[in-house]
Amino acid sequence: MNLVFLGPPGSGKGTQALRVAKELNLIHISTGDLLREAVKNQTELGQQAEEFMKSGNLVPDELIVKLIEEKISNGDKGNGIILDGFPRTIPQAESLKKMFEQNQEHLDSAVLLEVSDDEVVKRLLGRWYCPKCNAGYNYPSNRPQQEGLCDNDGQELLRRPDDEEAVVKNRLDVYKKQTQPIEEFYRQESILREIKGEQQPDTVFQDILAAVKD
Ligand code: AMP
Repeated sequence: MNLVFLGPPGSGKGTQALRVAKELNLIHISTGDLLREAVKNQTELGQQAEEFMKSGNLVPDELIVKLIEEKISNGDKGNGIILDGFPRTIPQAESLKKMFEQNQEHLDSAVLLEVSDDEVVKRLLGRWYCPKCNAGYNYPSNRPQQEGLCDNDGQELLRRPDDEEAVVKNRLDVYKKQTQPIEEFYRQESILREIKGEQQPDTVFQDILAAVKD
């Protein structure tokens, strides 16, 4: 089974994609995580991507498509893959379609997590993470037991630089202009599965499982 997870920043797609990947034994591929790792290690890709990411803009299609091509052709595919944060533009969606066709495979579902603009801004401004174990926290709905420290390892929590208010607004604009048209692309292919992303996380998870097994 091959899935794509779509949704605005802060819609919970990263968290849900990880959970669904574990449940269905799929390989989870997050372009945001891969890019942050590349920036941290200052690889050539990381250096090229850094400025785009800091401002909340998209990294150019050719860089991202190359990254995904490498991942898909070299990596272990298990029972299938979940792409989290890719595609984010129509040209990326078209490239992905070609990649699958070349491997005699196809995309089964595009899972869209729907969350309102107000909720996105609220979630991103309250989002913190542990740099050691990557656990995520949210103020005020999911606070750590001790203010500012990770429950798992006591590490001081951080915020992503692109979760600052001005950048959040730009990321939302970029989503609407460049990524939202993909919803129609997958609706036309009859594989768009729309999920209400503002429900309890467990309900969202169950809804996704039901939708992709349909
Ligand atoms: P994310 O963690 O998915 O919110 O991604 C963080 C940032 O990485 C985005 O704001 C973009 O700058 C960049 N990025 C991640 N995935 C893509 C993609 N498919 N196309 C272009 N840029 C991307």
